[in-house]
Amino acid sequence: MNYTPILEEIYTDIQPLLGEGKIADYIPELAHVSADKFGMAVQTIDGDLYHIGDSAEKFSIQSISKVFTLTMAMQLEGDKLWTRIGREPSGTAFNSLVQLEYENGIPRNPFINAGALVVTDIILTHYGNAHRSVLDFIHILCRQADIDFDRAVAHSERETGYRNAALAYFLKSFGNLHNDAVQVLDAYFHHCSLAMSCVELARAGIYLANGGKLPWNDQVIVTSNQAKYINSLMLTCGTYDSVGDFAYRVGLPGKSGVGGGILAVMPNEFSVCVWSPGLNASGNSLAGTRALELFTTLTGISIF
Ligand code: GLU
Repeated sequence: MNYTPILEEIYTDIQPLLGEGKIADYIPELAHVSADKFGMAVQTIDGDLYHIGDSAEKFSIQSISKVFTLTMAMQLEGDKLWTRIGREPSGTAFNSLVQLEYENGIPRNPFINAGALVVTDIILTHYGNAHRSVLDFIHILCRQADIDFDRAVAHSERETGYRNAALAYFLKSFGNLHNDAVQVLDAYFHHCSLAMSCVELARAGIYLANGGKLPWNDQVIVTSNQAKYINSLMLTCGTYDSVGDFAYRVGLPGKSGVGGGILAVMPNEFSVCVWSPGLNASGNSLAGTRALELFTTLTGISIF
């Protein structure tokens, strides 16, 4: 299928939405981006790439990094992971402390911040260096060695991330963080600060559309069953507290970040990344969600 005309139609349709929504500024360094940016990239498992708009411009991937760190934790621990993290939608804010208290320090899922901190803790335990190991992994996924953290963003979050610090120490009090909280937080902030473009992110996510393997060399990243698990978690927990609305409108597993990016997956077909920094009330990219909704509507392709 040639997706170019569809991307062009979407690009025209979403123009009135650009500048709508709210740019995340609770991490001060994120506020500098201009509101009218929009990019979209589709990577097929056959190796074709379609993209439009600001698709080559790097942005802060923020919580989309949780997909990649979860993948690493699954490689390392398999099902043992689920003794420390749940697999249910949270129904509360991504950085809520309340739920963690009720549930004795077991985060609801790996895509809320508490869950991602436990995932980072696992990576740190296994590799000793949770900065380098994640960068190396991303380089393998993208076949590109120049993808890096945006250290100004990581620093900005470290200076202001009081709630994440509270979550980390809270997890520690329940015995669900094994490493030093400051070290875990520093690694987590760096993972969130990864600067990538839509084209790079769509490429990085292609293993999830291809049964866990990289299509260009058949390298196994995770088993096909684990790819199913990750996609299922994206569908049920990947887009904050409006995950039901996102599934209804888009019909694909997706993971969003407060930088305005969304990575979505159509198994056996493609991965797609969209970026526009204005966020809707739930924290998902406003124009990005609409663009994905249009994409599945116009192509007639979704998991349903
Ligand atoms: N680094 C951000 C935080 O922890 C990630 C939030 C997100 O993208 O959901 O607040």
